[in-house]
Amino acid sequence: GPNEEDTQAMQKIKVAVRVRPLMPHEMQSKDNGSRLVADVSRASIKVLGDNGQNCRAFQFDQVFDETSRQLDVYKGLGVDQMVAKVVEGYHATIFAYGQTGSGKTFTMEGMANSVSSREQEASAKLGISQRAIVDLFKRVKKIRESPSHSKHINVFCSFLQIYNERVYDLLNPDSTPDQLRGQLDHTDYPAKDEGRLHHPQGLRIRWTKKEQFIVENLFVFECGTADDALELFQEGLRNKVVASHNLNHQSSRSHCIFTLTVETVDPSNLDTTVTSKLQLVDLAGSEKIAPTTSTMAKESIDINKSLFVLRKVINKLSELSSTPEIKKGAALNHVPYRDSKLTSLLKHSLGGNSYCLMIACISPAERYLDGPNGQGSGETISTLQYATRAA
Ligand code: ADP
Ligand code: MG
Repeated sequence: GPNEEDTQAMQKIKVAVRVRPLMPHEMQSKDNGSRLVADVSRASIKVLGDNGQNCRAFQFDQVFDETSRQLDVYKGLGVDQMVAKVVEGYHATIFAYGQTGSGKTFTMEGMANSVSSREQEASAKLGISQRAIVDLFKRVKKIRESPSHSKHINVFCSFLQIYNERVYDLLNPDSTPDQLRGQLDHTDYPAKDEGRLHHPQGLRIRWTKKEQFIVENLFVFECGTADDALELFQEGLRNKVVASHNLNHQSSRSHCIFTLTVETVDPSNLDTTVTSKLQLVDLAGSEKIAPTTSTMAKESIDINKSLFVLRKVINKLSELSSTPEIKKGAALNHVPYRDSKLTSLLKHSLGGNSYCLMIACISPAERYLDGPNGQGSGETISTLQYATRAA
């Protein structure tokens, strides 16, 4: 019956937690993370009190402990099935949430730059983004090669960064502020030099008739193969590092969105073109930033604004998932997508015909665990609470 179908259908919003391993410097007795217990089979995280009592438990769709490898996480979360949905015409978003140092970048981007003598070792470190890129092109290739297929499938990619509520193009370094010019090695990008644009204030976001927010002048590249897309992904990551040095900001305070757009065109009927997006998001650190100067205060407000609105949007959508279809229409109008750059750009991927996967990353170290009354910073508990609300 219909219920059966519901349970078998892919979940629209899914929340997982990944616990990273303790770092060598955290392995001293005081910081050994033994109060944080990840129960993988029950998909729960328990936080024990000092004496093993006062246990608090948090429930999720899935939990990965510190022994989980990159491939375990990718397969366990069913990212390839999400990719399949994107190729079918649905939107999907995957994002990593958590304080700085909790493993967001490791999870999304892996350690792709790590030089390993053994190729196998290097590929074991790849993050969700590279794996998703490879799988998406595998699926596209299969369709292109199938003899019954008459449609054309085009894949495009773009890579942007939101910093201080401003949007910068990671594939067009000249879209970042003035001081960047001349410091970048332009010889790295000879083919794309032509048509470079200069946008010191960041790129503008515009609302289009197709009910989508678009970033004006953002570079969008057509990619024929996974290697094309992987190369652009790496280029964007390099530009992210350069931009953070030159802007004197920590990349942990920016949100990065890599977008793969799949366009399926029926040459005999262009009106039926279907466009879908897979957005891979490495969010800014969720920790509260203590402002030190006036610029910092503004920065911390704006960064928290995007995350704050994202939380509101996710909460709202999660509420709505239990709302009857008839009442949904009006309620959807009250989802505050427009209140931040981040949520504007994720809008089409967060509501409606789309799939959303949030990976909350946490450290097991004691120093981040409890709130103001305990000894830790409270960031781990607040990540768990946020992720629970989203689930
Ligand atoms: P974030 O992006 O949330 O600030 P990172 O991904 O940079 O955090 O992780 C912080 C450090 O921990 C890095 O040195 C990273 O390599 C390491 N790390 C994070 N997660 C894992 C993991 N699952 N396994 C091994 N090392 C990890
Ligand atoms: Mg990071």
